[in-house]
Amino acid sequence: MSEKPHPHQMRLTCPHCDSYMRIRASRGVTALYREAYVYCTNETCGFRGKLGLELLQTLSPSATPNPEVRLPLAPSLLNQLLNEAN
Ligand SMILES: [Zn+2]
Repeated sequence: MSEKPHPHQMRLTCPHCDSYMRIRASRGVTALYREAYVYCTNETCGFRGKLGLELLQTLSPSATPNPEVRLPLAPSLLNQLLNEAN
């Protein structure tokens, strides 16, 4: 694996020493929630932790929606849809 973070990859910093943290492994718990194991790249620090990544809102609806996914619409999208309906 490359040492350089992908430009669009979320940058995670260690809560203890502020160094970059890397994701070691992740698994999808639900369609909207993933858990990831992260570790600090500062070997002196050595912090490791578990991270939760949750999808919170729909900003733009899917054209191929999964019927099992119930994700609240962002307030801005809700307003937009209400305006289009009127
Ligand atoms: Zn650290």
